[in-house]
Amino acid sequence: MDLSIVIPLLNEEESLPELTEWIQRVMTQHQYTYEIIFIDDGSTDDSWKIIEQISKQNPAVRAIKFQRNYGKSAALNEGFKVAQGEVVITMDADMQDSPDEIPELRRMILEDQYDLVSGWKKKRFDNTFTKNLPSKLFNATARKTSGIKLHDFNCGLKAYRNKVIKTIEVYGEMHRYIPVLAKWSGFRKIGEKIVEHRPRKYGVTKFGWERFINGFLDLTTIMFVSKFGKRPMHLFGLWGTLVFGVGLLIWVYLFIAKFAFLKYNMTDRPIFYVGIISLVIGVQLFLAGFLGELISRNSSIRNQYLVEDKLRI
Ligand code: UDP
Ligand code: MG
Repeated sequence: MDLSIVIPLLNEEESLPELTEWIQRVMTQHQYTYEIIFIDDGSTDDSWKIIEQISKQNPAVRAIKFQRNYGKSAALNEGFKVAQGEVVITMDADMQDSPDEIPELRRMILEDQYDLVSGWKKKRFDNTFTKNLPSKLFNATARKTSGIKLHDFNCGLKAYRNKVIKTIEVYGEMHRYIPVLAKWSGFRKIGEKIVEHRPRKYGVTKFGWERFINGFLDLTTIMFVSKFGKRPMHLFGLWGTLVFGVGLLIWVYLFIAKFAFLKYNMTDRPIFYVGIISLVIGVQLFLAGFLGELISRNSSIRNQYLVEDKLRI
C-alpha cells in the first residue's frame, strides 16, 4: 500500500465529506493505493455517523472511535498502530491542511529519503495573538533545545516513513513535538515543506488558552526527559548534594562562630534559616532523584532499542 492517511478528529461533522472527497480525488489522480484512517476522538456530534456513511461508499476508509475524548496524541498513536502504508500522512480533519500537498510529501520521503517531513504553515490563517505569536516562541525554544531545524513543529500535516510511526509512541500532548520523539528514536533525517494553510471552514478550534500552559509544560518535559530521563539521579542527585553541602557549610560556620564568640543566639541569625532550609531541600532533591531512578529502572521501555534492519551480523 502506497499511503495511509491518518486523520484525528473531534466534532468535525461538517468537514468530513468534503475532506474525504478531496483526498479521494488526489489519490485517484495519482493512482495510489491508499487507506484513510479516521480516529474519532470521542466526538459528541454526528461525526461517527458520517464516517459510517463515507466508509460504505469507499472501502479505503477505515475508522476507530474512542469511547471518550482522549486527545489528539492518543488518536494519532492509535492510528499509527494500524497504518499499513509505506508512507504515512497525518492531517487535521478541519480542512486547514490541503490534500494537494500529499504527492510532494510522499516524494520527499521516498526519493529524498527523509524519515519525516513536517509541514510549515508559513502563511498562517489563525488568530495572530492567541496562536501565531505563542507558536513562534514555542518553535524557537523547541528548535534550540532539540537541535532540529524546523519552523513549525506542531503542524498537523506531516509525512512519515512507516517505520518511524511504528517506533515512536505519542502520549500526553506530545503531538506538538513528534519530530523530537522521532529524533530520540534515531530518525535523523527530518525535513520541512512549506504547505498551504487555509482558514478553518467549519466548526471551531479544539484547543483553547490551555494550549499555552500545556505547550510549555510539555516543552519542559521534553527538555528534561531528553537529557535526564534515563538518569534522573544525575540531575537531582547533583543539585541535592550541592544544596545539602551549602546547608552543612552554613551549620559548621554557625557552630564555630557560636563556640568561638559565644555572643549570640543561633536563631537570631537569618543565615540559620537558610542553613535549615538548604538541608531539607537538599535531602528532598536527593530523594526525588532516588525515586526517579527506581521508577526508570522499573520502566518497561527501559531497554527498548531499535536495531537497524540490515545491520546485524
Ligand atoms: N482533535 C482531536 N482531539 C482533540 C482535539 C483536536 O482529534 O482532543 C483534532 C481536531 O478535530 C482537528 C485536529 O485535531 O482535526 C486539530 O485541531 P484544531 O483544528 O482544533 O487545532 P488548531 O488548528 O486550532 O491548532
Ligand atoms: Mg485546525
